[in-house]
Amino acid sequence: ETLDKGLEKTKTSFFGKLTKAIAGKSKVDDEVLDNLEEILISSDVGVNTTIKIIERIEKRVAADKYLGTAELNQILRDEISALLAETNSGNETDFSIPTGKKPYVIMVVGVNGVGKTTTIGKLASQLKAAGYSVVLGAADTFRAAAIDQLQIWADRVGVPLVKQNMGSDPASVAFDTLTSAVAQNADVVIIDTAGRLHNKVNLMNELSKVKRVMQKVVSDAPHDVMLVLDGSTGQNAFEQAKQFTAATEVTSLAVTKLDGTAKGGVVIGISDQFQIPVRYIGVGEGINDLQVFNKFEFVDSFFK
Ligand code: GDP
Repeated sequence: ETLDKGLEKTKTSFFGKLTKAIAGKSKVDDEVLDNLEEILISSDVGVNTTIKIIERIEKRVAADKYLGTAELNQILRDEISALLAETNSGNETDFSIPTGKKPYVIMVVGVNGVGKTTTIGKLASQLKAAGYSVVLGAADTFRAAAIDQLQIWADRVGVPLVKQNMGSDPASVAFDTLTSAVAQNADVVIIDTAGRLHNKVNLMNELSKVKRVMQKVVSDAPHDVMLVLDGSTGQNAFEQAKQFTAATEVTSLAVTKLDGTAKGGVVIGISDQFQIPVRYIGVGEGINDLQVFNKFEFVDSFFK
């Protein structure tokens, strides 16, 4: 039910508009489809993904000849879930990490302010609660505040943080973190990195250096490069996804601040457009306000 509460604004807005759009209509016709298109775009699903969804529904209308508006909810659920099929299986339920990699190394990327530190803290807390030993690394050495904030989270959660002074080499921090994690026989390492986008070449070089140096300790690290995006920023989030995926290989997404926005549809659009699984969603500032993303629960929460 945290998910329902976290997505309240999106849900109310989406469902409210949809209800209005089909009021007094028994059949899905062009007008209903036009309205639906507008609703999806205004929920920040994105134009390309919206068009795909509408086309899928048009196909259903054509096949069934008559499609009642009463069935529209179910059909939307089916079609949106199907669209997310390639990136998210729908079986995701718990906070867990793949077996066979120890330590499992997650490198977290994203621009400042999106909720990167908070997401790392929440994730560390959930993984610890699930029984994993976690080590954090403060490789965002560009801002003193980033290191301090991460320390606050590490203390709150009760996990070790490896850090150096502000301005030190991020790759060196990453190296120390992995070395320490290996020595402690830790299960998971979560490494924070700086997210300056102003210079793509710098970003690319910095991230590849961090990766390269990590591999001196754990040869196939990082196992996951997780991009954190602020879900309330709509098209900016799309833009950041574009830039980061161009700079490095992003393997998962965390979308934050969905509690503060009516535009939660951004999750559907980004996951479809970039074909990267959404792993977690942030639905509040508290330590427990991180959810494992499950497409069925997510889509269902729109219609409940
Ligand atoms: P960073 O600069 O990317 O590390 O961002 P922070 O983790 O410091 O977060 C920036 C602000 O966003 C803080 O005030 C967080 O409490 C807030 N924040 C992070 N995630 C969420 C979320 O899921 N929901 C809400 N409402 N706020 C969040």
